Amino acid sequence: MMHAHSTDPTRPTYKVVVIGAGPAGLMAADVLADAGLRVEVFDAMPSAGRKFLQAGRGGLNLSHSEPLPQFVQRYGAAEPQFAPWVQTFGPSQLRAWVASFGIETFIGSTGRIYPQDMKAAPLLRAWLHRLREKGVLFAMHHRWQGWDEHGALEFTHRQQKIHVEADALILALGGASWPQLGSRGDWLNLFAETEIEPWRAANCGFDCEWSALLRDKFAGQPLKSVAMSVRCAHGAIQHKRGELMLTEYGLEGGLLYALSAPIRDGLQAAKPCEVWVDLLPDLTVPQLQKRLQKNRGKQSWSTHLKRAGVDALRAHLLRERLEGAELENWTRISELLKAYPLHLTQPRPIAEAISSAGGIRFSALDENTMLRSRPGVFCCGEMLDWEAPTGGYLLTGVLASARASAQGVLNWLEK
Ligand SMILES: Cc1cc2nc3c(=O)[nH]c(=O)nc-3n(C[C@H](O)[C@H](O)[C@H](O)COP(=O)(O)OP(=O)(O)OC[C@H]3O[C@@H](n4cnc5c(N)ncnc54)[C@H](O)[C@@H]3O)c2cc1C
Repeated sequence: MMHAHSTDPTRPTYKVVVIGAGPAGLMAADVLADAGLRVEVFDAMPSAGRKFLQAGRGGLNLSHSEPLPQFVQRYGAAEPQFAPWVQTFGPSQLRAWVASFGIETFIGSTGRIYPQDMKAAPLLRAWLHRLREKGVLFAMHHRWQGWDEHGALEFTHRQQKIHVEADALILALGGASWPQLGSRGDWLNLFAETEIEPWRAANCGFDCEWSALLRDKFAGQPLKSVAMSVRCAHGAIQHKRGELMLTEYGLEGGLLYALSAPIRDGLQAAKPCEVWVDLLPDLTVPQLQKRLQKNRGKQSWSTHLKRAGVDALRAHLLRERLEGAELENWTRISELLKAYPLHLTQPRPIAEAISSAGGIRFSALDENTMLRSRPGVFCCGEMLDWEAPTGGYLLTGVLASARASAQGVLNWLEK
Protein backbone atom coordinates (compact mmCIF):
# COMPACT_ATOMS: atom_id res chain seq x y z
CA MET A 1 0.00 0.00 0.00
CA MET A 2 1.23 3.52 -0.83
CA HIS A 3 1.65 6.62 1.26
CA ALA A 4 0.46 9.93 -0.10
CA HIS A 5 2.30 13.07 1.06
CA SER A 6 1.06 16.52 2.06
CA THR A 7 2.70 19.78 0.95
CA ASP A 8 4.99 19.47 3.98
CA PRO A 9 7.30 16.68 2.79
CA THR A 10 8.41 15.86 6.32
CA ARG A 11 4.85 15.10 7.44
CA PRO A 12 3.07 12.30 5.63
CA THR A 13 -0.71 12.62 5.31
CA TYR A 14 -2.16 9.20 5.25
CA LYS A 15 -5.03 8.31 3.00
CA VAL A 16 -7.80 6.24 4.52
CA VAL A 17 -10.52 4.63 2.43
CA VAL A 18 -13.89 4.01 4.05
CA ILE A 19 -16.25 1.63 2.28
CA GLY A 20 -19.89 2.12 3.16
CA ALA A 21 -21.58 5.51 3.53
CA GLY A 22 -24.05 4.44 6.19
CA PRO A 23 -23.92 5.94 9.68
CA ALA A 24 -20.86 3.79 10.60
CA GLY A 25 -18.80 4.81 7.56
CA LEU A 26 -19.75 8.47 7.88
CA MET A 27 -18.86 8.56 11.59
CA ALA A 28 -15.50 6.89 10.95
CA ALA A 29 -14.80 9.39 8.14
CA ASP A 30 -15.73 12.26 10.46
CA VAL A 31 -13.25 11.26 13.17
CA LEU A 32 -10.45 10.59 10.67
CA ALA A 33 -11.00 13.92 8.87
CA ASP A 34 -10.85 15.71 12.24
CA ALA A 35 -7.48 14.04 12.81
CA GLY A 36 -6.22 15.60 9.57
CA LEU A 37 -6.19 12.47 7.41
CA ARG A 38 -7.25 12.30 3.78
CA VAL A 39 -10.51 10.37 3.69
CA GLU A 40 -12.34 8.91 0.71
CA VAL A 41 -15.72 7.26 1.20
CA PHE A 42 -16.91 4.72 -1.36
CA ASP A 43 -20.44 3.32 -1.60
CA ALA A 44 -22.28 1.09 -4.05
CA MET A 45 -25.44 3.17 -3.97
CA PRO A 46 -26.14 6.45 -5.79
CA SER A 47 -26.43 8.33 -2.47
CA ALA A 48 -25.29 8.00 1.15
CA GLY A 49 -27.18 6.80 4.21
CA ARG A 50 -30.17 5.10 2.59
CA LYS A 51 -30.93 2.79 5.52
CA PHE A 52 -30.41 5.69 7.93
CA LEU A 53 -33.03 7.64 5.97
CA GLN A 54 -35.37 4.66 6.06
CA ALA A 55 -34.90 4.45 9.82
CA GLY A 56 -36.06 8.06 9.97
CA ARG A 57 -39.34 7.25 8.24
CA GLY A 58 -40.71 5.54 11.34
CA GLY A 59 -39.24 8.17 13.73
CA LEU A 60 -35.45 8.16 14.05
CA ASN A 61 -34.76 6.50 17.39
CA LEU A 62 -31.15 7.52 17.98
CA SER A 63 -30.55 6.15 21.43
CA HIS A 64 -32.03 5.39 24.83
CA SER A 65 -31.87 7.31 28.11
CA GLU A 66 -31.68 4.38 30.54
CA PRO A 67 -28.62 4.26 32.83
CA LEU A 68 -25.43 3.09 31.10
CA PRO A 69 -24.99 -0.16 33.10
CA GLN A 70 -28.41 -1.27 31.82
CA PHE A 71 -27.83 0.22 28.38
CA VAL A 72 -24.70 -1.83 27.70
CA GLN A 73 -26.48 -5.07 28.70
CA ARG A 74 -28.63 -4.70 25.57
CA TYR A 75 -25.67 -5.83 23.48
CA GLY A 76 -25.94 -9.32 24.98
CA ALA A 77 -22.94 -11.50 24.18
CA ALA A 78 -21.18 -8.48 22.63
CA GLU A 79 -21.43 -6.38 25.83
CA PRO A 80 -17.67 -6.73 26.57
CA GLN A 81 -16.87 -5.11 23.20
CA PHE A 82 -19.58 -2.46 23.28
CA ALA A 83 -19.24 -1.38 26.92
CA PRO A 84 -16.01 0.65 26.43
CA TRP A 85 -17.20 2.02 23.07
CA VAL A 86 -20.53 3.17 24.48
CA GLN A 87 -18.79 4.62 27.55
CA THR A 88 -16.79 6.81 25.16
CA PHE A 89 -19.66 7.63 22.81
CA GLY A 90 -22.97 6.80 24.46
CA PRO A 91 -26.39 8.44 24.60
CA SER A 92 -25.21 11.74 26.08
CA GLN A 93 -22.25 12.18 23.69
CA LEU A 94 -24.55 11.24 20.82
CA ARG A 95 -27.08 13.90 21.86
CA ALA A 96 -24.34 16.51 22.09
CA TRP A 97 -23.05 15.49 18.68
CA VAL A 98 -26.54 15.82 17.13
CA ALA A 99 -26.90 19.21 18.86
CA SER A 100 -23.67 20.33 17.15
CA PHE A 101 -25.71 20.38 13.92
CA GLY A 102 -28.29 22.66 15.54
CA ILE A 103 -30.69 19.73 15.95
CA GLU A 104 -32.15 19.26 19.41
CA THR A 105 -33.15 15.83 20.73
CA PHE A 106 -35.80 14.79 23.22
CA ILE A 107 -36.55 11.78 25.42
CA GLY A 108 -39.91 10.15 24.67
CA SER A 109 -42.21 8.62 27.29
CA THR A 110 -40.54 5.21 26.82
CA GLY A 111 -37.06 6.65 27.44
CA ARG A 112 -36.13 6.53 23.76
CA ILE A 113 -34.16 9.44 22.31
CA TYR A 114 -35.25 11.12 19.06
CA PRO A 115 -34.32 14.27 17.15
CA GLN A 116 -36.95 16.98 17.75
CA ASP A 117 -38.53 16.48 14.29
CA MET A 118 -38.12 12.65 14.46
CA LYS A 119 -36.50 12.69 11.01
CA ALA A 120 -33.15 11.51 9.63
CA ALA A 121 -32.99 13.63 6.47
CA PRO A 122 -32.07 17.03 8.03
CA LEU A 123 -29.35 15.40 10.17
CA LEU A 124 -27.93 13.44 7.23
CA ARG A 125 -27.95 16.55 5.01
CA ALA A 126 -26.10 18.64 7.60
CA TRP A 127 -23.65 15.81 8.30
CA LEU A 128 -22.74 15.26 4.63
CA HIS A 129 -22.31 19.00 4.18
CA ARG A 130 -19.94 19.17 7.16
CA LEU A 131 -17.96 16.14 5.98
CA ARG A 132 -17.46 17.73 2.55
CA GLU A 133 -16.33 20.93 4.23
CA LYS A 134 -13.78 18.90 6.17
CA GLY A 135 -12.44 17.66 2.84
CA VAL A 136 -13.94 14.15 2.83
CA LEU A 137 -14.35 12.91 -0.75
CA PHE A 138 -17.27 10.71 -1.81
CA ALA A 139 -17.30 8.15 -4.61
CA MET A 140 -20.80 6.76 -5.08
CA HIS A 141 -21.82 3.96 -7.48
CA HIS A 142 -18.66 2.07 -6.48
CA ARG A 143 -19.34 -1.51 -5.39
CA TRP A 144 -16.37 -3.06 -3.61
CA GLN A 145 -15.42 -6.52 -4.89
CA GLY A 146 -12.42 -7.32 -2.71
CA TRP A 147 -8.68 -7.04 -3.28
CA ASP A 148 -6.78 -7.48 -6.56
CA GLU A 149 -3.60 -9.54 -6.93
CA HIS A 150 -1.47 -6.53 -5.84
CA GLY A 151 -3.47 -5.96 -2.69
CA ALA A 152 -5.28 -2.86 -4.02
CA LEU A 153 -9.00 -2.44 -3.49
CA GLU A 154 -11.15 -3.41 -6.44
CA PHE A 155 -14.46 -1.72 -7.21
CA THR A 156 -16.92 -1.95 -10.05
CA HIS A 157 -18.07 1.44 -11.26
CA ARG A 158 -20.50 1.61 -14.20
CA GLN A 159 -19.37 -1.81 -15.47
CA GLN A 160 -15.69 -0.87 -15.14
CA LYS A 161 -13.11 -2.16 -12.72
CA ILE A 162 -11.43 0.51 -10.59
CA HIS A 163 -8.39 -0.11 -8.39
CA VAL A 164 -7.71 2.03 -5.35
CA GLU A 165 -4.85 2.08 -2.87
CA ALA A 166 -4.92 3.33 0.69
CA ASP A 167 -2.80 3.40 3.84
CA ALA A 168 -5.68 2.04 5.88
CA LEU A 169 -9.15 0.77 5.12
CA ILE A 170 -12.31 0.97 7.19
CA LEU A 171 -15.05 -1.42 6.16
CA ALA A 172 -18.53 -0.28 7.19
CA LEU A 173 -20.57 -2.48 4.88
CA GLY A 174 -23.68 -2.90 7.04
CA GLY A 175 -25.68 -6.08 7.62
CA ALA A 176 -27.97 -8.05 5.34
CA SER A 177 -31.47 -6.72 6.00
CA TRP A 178 -33.30 -4.46 3.54
CA PRO A 179 -30.72 -5.21 0.77
CA GLN A 180 -32.46 -2.80 -1.60
CA LEU A 181 -30.94 0.00 0.50
CA GLY A 182 -27.39 -1.10 -0.30
CA SER A 183 -26.18 -3.48 2.39
CA ARG A 184 -26.54 -6.86 0.75
CA GLY A 185 -24.15 -8.80 2.95
CA ASP A 186 -22.78 -10.59 -0.12
CA TRP A 187 -19.16 -9.84 0.82
CA LEU A 188 -19.00 -12.60 3.47
CA ASN A 189 -17.21 -14.93 1.02
CA LEU A 190 -14.25 -12.50 0.86
CA PHE A 191 -13.30 -13.62 4.37
CA ALA A 192 -12.09 -16.88 5.85
CA GLU A 193 -14.75 -19.16 7.31
CA THR A 194 -13.23 -18.76 10.75
CA GLU A 195 -13.72 -14.98 10.54
CA ILE A 196 -17.44 -14.93 9.82
CA GLU A 197 -20.84 -15.98 11.15
CA PRO A 198 -23.68 -16.60 8.67
CA TRP A 199 -26.38 -13.92 8.53
CA ARG A 200 -29.46 -14.29 10.72
CA ALA A 201 -32.54 -12.09 10.89
CA ALA A 202 -32.70 -9.92 14.04
CA ASN A 203 -35.56 -7.75 15.23
CA CYS A 204 -37.83 -9.62 12.87
CA GLY A 205 -41.39 -10.87 12.55
CA PHE A 206 -42.40 -14.55 12.62
CA ASP A 207 -44.82 -16.76 10.74
CA CYS A 208 -47.76 -18.11 12.70
CA GLU A 209 -50.88 -19.70 11.30
CA TRP A 210 -54.16 -17.87 11.78
CA SER A 211 -57.61 -19.00 10.77
CA ALA A 212 -58.94 -17.35 7.61
CA LEU A 213 -61.47 -15.49 9.77
CA LEU A 214 -58.86 -13.98 12.07
CA ARG A 215 -56.58 -13.08 9.17
CA ASP A 216 -59.32 -11.41 7.13
CA LYS A 217 -60.73 -9.47 10.02
CA PHE A 218 -57.68 -8.51 12.06
CA ALA A 219 -54.49 -8.54 9.92
CA GLY A 220 -52.82 -5.14 10.38
CA GLN A 221 -54.34 -4.56 13.83
CA PRO A 222 -52.24 -4.01 16.94
CA LEU A 223 -52.51 -5.91 20.18
CA LYS A 224 -51.54 -3.11 22.52
CA SER A 225 -50.22 -3.55 26.03
CA VAL A 226 -49.59 -7.28 26.08
CA ALA A 227 -46.72 -9.38 27.40
CA MET A 228 -44.94 -12.38 25.93
CA SER A 229 -42.92 -15.22 27.43
CA VAL A 230 -40.54 -17.52 25.66
CA ARG A 231 -38.41 -20.36 26.96
CA CYS A 232 -34.78 -19.84 25.91
CA ALA A 233 -32.50 -22.60 24.68
CA HIS A 234 -30.88 -22.84 28.16
CA GLY A 235 -34.27 -23.25 29.84
CA ALA A 236 -34.77 -19.79 31.38
CA ILE A 237 -37.99 -17.92 30.59
CA GLN A 238 -37.73 -14.46 29.02
CA HIS A 239 -40.73 -12.24 29.61
CA LYS A 240 -41.32 -8.79 28.11
CA ARG A 241 -44.12 -6.30 27.71
CA GLY A 242 -45.02 -4.28 24.65
CA GLU A 243 -47.07 -4.27 21.50
CA LEU A 244 -47.72 -6.88 18.84
CA MET A 245 -49.25 -6.57 15.41
CA LEU A 246 -51.22 -9.30 13.67
CA THR A 247 -50.27 -9.73 10.01
CA GLU A 248 -51.39 -11.98 7.15
CA TYR A 249 -48.50 -14.33 7.81
CA GLY A 250 -48.16 -14.07 11.58
CA LEU A 251 -46.85 -11.44 13.95
CA GLU A 252 -44.70 -8.31 13.95
CA GLY A 253 -44.14 -5.59 16.55
CA GLY A 254 -41.66 -4.21 19.08
CA LEU A 255 -42.45 -6.87 21.69
CA LEU A 256 -41.70 -9.66 19.24
CA TYR A 257 -38.52 -7.95 18.01
CA ALA A 258 -37.30 -7.73 21.60
CA LEU A 259 -37.69 -11.50 21.93
CA SER A 260 -36.71 -12.38 18.37
CA ALA A 261 -33.23 -13.68 19.26
CA PRO A 262 -34.38 -16.43 21.69
CA ILE A 263 -37.32 -17.31 19.41
CA ARG A 264 -35.06 -17.53 16.35
CA ASP A 265 -32.49 -19.60 18.22
CA GLY A 266 -35.26 -21.81 19.65
CA LEU A 267 -36.52 -22.49 16.12
CA GLN A 268 -33.07 -23.65 15.13
CA ALA A 269 -33.26 -26.35 17.81
CA ALA A 270 -36.90 -27.40 17.26
CA LYS A 271 -39.95 -26.27 15.31
CA PRO A 272 -42.35 -24.69 16.07
CA CYS A 273 -41.41 -22.38 18.92
CA GLU A 274 -44.15 -22.03 21.50
CA VAL A 275 -44.63 -18.61 23.09
CA TRP A 276 -47.26 -17.46 25.58
CA VAL A 277 -49.00 -14.13 25.30
CA ASP A 278 -50.49 -12.47 28.36
CA LEU A 279 -53.36 -10.64 26.67
CA LEU A 280 -54.26 -8.63 29.79
CA PRO A 281 -51.06 -8.19 31.84
CA ASP A 282 -52.61 -5.71 34.28
CA LEU A 283 -55.16 -8.23 35.57
CA THR A 284 -54.65 -11.47 37.49
CA VAL A 285 -56.51 -14.72 36.80
CA PRO A 286 -58.73 -14.28 39.92
CA GLN A 287 -59.51 -10.69 38.93
CA LEU A 288 -60.51 -11.82 35.46
CA GLN A 289 -62.57 -14.70 36.84
CA LYS A 290 -64.41 -12.28 39.08
CA ARG A 291 -65.23 -10.00 36.17
CA LEU A 292 -66.27 -12.83 33.87
CA GLN A 293 -68.36 -14.72 36.41
CA LYS A 294 -70.64 -11.71 36.88
CA ASN A 295 -74.19 -12.39 35.78
CA ARG A 296 -74.23 -12.35 31.99
CA GLY A 297 -78.01 -11.88 31.70
CA LYS A 298 -79.16 -11.72 28.10
CA GLN A 299 -75.87 -10.34 26.79
CA SER A 300 -74.14 -12.06 23.93
CA TRP A 301 -70.85 -13.85 24.65
CA SER A 302 -68.78 -11.12 23.01
CA THR A 303 -70.63 -8.27 24.77
CA HIS A 304 -70.12 -10.03 28.08
CA LEU A 305 -66.39 -10.29 27.36
CA LYS A 306 -66.25 -6.68 26.20
CA ARG A 307 -67.78 -5.55 29.50
CA ALA A 308 -65.02 -7.46 31.28
CA GLY A 309 -62.38 -5.57 29.23
CA VAL A 310 -61.77 -8.16 26.51
CA ASP A 311 -61.94 -6.44 23.11
CA ALA A 312 -63.03 -7.98 19.79
CA LEU A 313 -59.54 -9.07 18.70
CA ARG A 314 -58.83 -10.80 22.02
CA ALA A 315 -62.29 -12.42 21.93
CA HIS A 316 -61.59 -13.77 18.43
CA LEU A 317 -58.28 -15.15 19.60
CA LEU A 318 -60.14 -16.95 22.41
CA ARG A 319 -62.62 -18.41 19.95
CA GLU A 320 -59.77 -19.99 18.01
CA ARG A 321 -58.90 -22.10 21.04
CA LEU A 322 -62.29 -22.86 22.63
CA GLU A 323 -64.95 -25.36 21.72
CA GLY A 324 -68.51 -26.09 22.93
CA ALA A 325 -68.88 -25.89 26.70
CA GLU A 326 -65.41 -24.33 27.04
CA LEU A 327 -66.94 -21.09 25.79
CA GLU A 328 -68.76 -20.81 29.11
CA ASN A 329 -65.85 -21.98 31.24
CA TRP A 330 -64.74 -18.63 32.67
CA THR A 331 -61.84 -20.13 34.61
CA ARG A 332 -60.44 -21.68 31.44
CA ILE A 333 -61.02 -18.38 29.59
CA SER A 334 -59.28 -16.36 32.32
CA GLU A 335 -56.29 -18.70 32.21
CA LEU A 336 -56.17 -18.56 28.42
CA LEU A 337 -56.21 -14.76 28.47
CA LYS A 338 -53.19 -14.83 30.79
CA ALA A 339 -51.17 -17.45 28.86
CA TYR A 340 -52.35 -17.64 25.28
CA PRO A 341 -50.15 -20.17 23.44
CA LEU A 342 -48.90 -19.40 19.94
CA HIS A 343 -46.80 -21.57 17.67
CA LEU A 344 -44.28 -19.55 15.70
CA THR A 345 -43.01 -21.56 12.75
CA GLN A 346 -40.18 -19.51 11.22
CA PRO A 347 -38.62 -16.04 11.19
CA ARG A 348 -39.58 -13.75 8.32
CA PRO A 349 -36.93 -13.46 5.58
CA ILE A 350 -33.84 -11.46 6.57
CA ALA A 351 -34.60 -8.93 3.80
CA GLU A 352 -37.62 -7.80 5.88
CA ALA A 353 -35.85 -7.69 9.25
CA ILE A 354 -34.92 -4.41 10.95
CA SER A 355 -31.37 -5.66 11.46
CA SER A 356 -29.17 -8.72 11.22
CA ALA A 357 -26.87 -10.79 13.37
CA GLY A 358 -23.89 -12.50 11.78
CA GLY A 359 -21.00 -11.00 9.82
CA ILE A 360 -17.42 -10.50 10.99
CA ARG A 361 -16.73 -12.20 14.33
CA PHE A 362 -15.15 -10.20 17.12
CA SER A 363 -12.56 -12.95 17.46
CA ALA A 364 -11.29 -11.97 13.98
CA LEU A 365 -10.48 -8.44 15.22
CA ASP A 366 -7.81 -7.07 17.53
CA GLU A 367 -8.40 -4.39 20.21
CA ASN A 368 -8.25 -1.70 17.48
CA THR A 369 -11.07 -3.45 15.50
CA MET A 370 -8.41 -4.41 12.94
CA LEU A 371 -8.67 -7.75 11.17
CA ARG A 372 -5.95 -10.00 12.56
CA SER A 373 -5.55 -11.56 9.11
CA ARG A 374 -5.22 -8.21 7.27
CA PRO A 375 -3.17 -5.47 8.91
CA GLY A 376 -4.59 -2.04 8.07
CA VAL A 377 -8.18 -3.25 7.55
CA PHE A 378 -10.69 -2.23 10.21
CA CYS A 379 -14.38 -3.19 10.56
CA CYS A 380 -17.31 -1.46 12.28
CA GLY A 381 -21.08 -1.08 12.40
CA GLU A 382 -23.71 -3.67 11.61
CA MET A 383 -21.29 -5.76 9.54
CA LEU A 384 -19.90 -7.10 12.84
CA ASP A 385 -21.55 -10.12 14.48
CA TRP A 386 -23.77 -8.59 17.17
CA GLU A 387 -27.39 -7.78 17.71
CA ALA A 388 -29.36 -5.49 19.97
CA PRO A 389 -33.06 -4.76 20.36
CA THR A 390 -34.78 -1.74 18.82
CA GLY A 391 -34.84 1.29 21.08
CA GLY A 392 -31.87 3.22 19.67
CA TYR A 393 -29.29 0.59 20.66
CA LEU A 394 -28.55 -0.23 17.02
CA LEU A 395 -27.61 3.27 15.89
CA THR A 396 -25.76 4.09 19.11
CA GLY A 397 -23.79 0.83 18.79
CA VAL A 398 -23.07 1.46 15.11
CA LEU A 399 -21.79 5.00 15.74
CA ALA A 400 -19.80 4.08 18.84
CA SER A 401 -18.12 1.16 17.05
CA ALA A 402 -17.25 3.42 14.11
CA ARG A 403 -15.53 5.90 16.41
CA ALA A 404 -13.60 3.00 17.92
CA SER A 405 -12.51 1.85 14.45
CA ALA A 406 -11.40 5.35 13.46
CA GLN A 407 -9.43 5.61 16.71
CA GLY A 408 -8.02 2.16 15.92
CA VAL A 409 -6.76 3.45 12.56
CA LEU A 410 -5.12 6.42 14.28
CA ASN A 411 -3.45 4.17 16.86
CA TRP A 412 -2.20 1.84 14.16
CA LEU A 413 -0.90 4.58 11.83
CA GLU A 414 0.87 6.23 14.74
CA LYS A 415 2.78 3.02 15.37
C1 LIG B 1 -36.75 -0.01 8.52
C2 LIG B 1 -35.60 0.22 9.46
C3 LIG B 1 -35.76 1.07 10.54
C4 LIG B 1 -34.72 1.25 11.46
N1 LIG B 1 -34.90 2.10 12.50
C5 LIG B 1 -33.91 2.27 13.41
C6 LIG B 1 -34.05 3.17 14.51
O1 LIG B 1 -35.07 3.90 14.63
N2 LIG B 1 -33.05 3.23 15.44
C7 LIG B 1 -31.91 2.48 15.32
O2 LIG B 1 -31.05 2.55 16.20
N3 LIG B 1 -31.70 1.67 14.25
C8 LIG B 1 -32.67 1.56 13.31
N4 LIG B 1 -32.48 0.74 12.23
C9 LIG B 1 -31.17 0.06 12.08
C10 LIG B 1 -30.08 1.01 11.54
O3 LIG B 1 -30.60 1.75 10.45
C11 LIG B 1 -28.86 0.20 11.09
O4 LIG B 1 -28.42 -0.57 12.19
C12 LIG B 1 -27.73 1.11 10.59
O5 LIG B 1 -28.13 1.80 9.43
C13 LIG B 1 -26.48 0.29 10.29
O6 LIG B 1 -25.47 1.20 9.95
P1 LIG B 1 -24.18 0.74 9.12
O7 LIG B 1 -23.51 2.02 8.71
O8 LIG B 1 -23.42 -0.27 9.87
O9 LIG B 1 -24.76 0.02 7.82
P2 LIG B 1 -25.72 0.58 6.67
O10 LIG B 1 -26.53 1.72 7.15
O11 LIG B 1 -26.42 -0.61 6.15
O12 LIG B 1 -24.69 1.13 5.59
C14 LIG B 1 -23.84 0.26 4.88
C15 LIG B 1 -23.43 0.94 3.57
O13 LIG B 1 -22.48 0.11 2.94
C16 LIG B 1 -22.74 0.09 1.56
N5 LIG B 1 -22.20 -1.17 1.01
C17 LIG B 1 -22.49 -2.44 1.36
N6 LIG B 1 -21.79 -3.31 0.63
C18 LIG B 1 -21.02 -2.56 -0.20
C19 LIG B 1 -20.03 -2.88 -1.20
N7 LIG B 1 -19.70 -4.15 -1.48
N8 LIG B 1 -19.43 -1.87 -1.86
C20 LIG B 1 -19.73 -0.58 -1.57
N9 LIG B 1 -20.63 -0.21 -0.65
C21 LIG B 1 -21.26 -1.20 0.03
C22 LIG B 1 -24.25 0.16 1.47
O14 LIG B 1 -24.67 0.67 0.21
C23 LIG B 1 -24.60 1.10 2.61
O15 LIG B 1 -24.69 2.44 2.20
C24 LIG B 1 -33.49 0.57 11.28
C25 LIG B 1 -33.33 -0.28 10.18
C26 LIG B 1 -34.37 -0.45 9.27
C27 LIG B 1 -34.17 -1.37 8.10
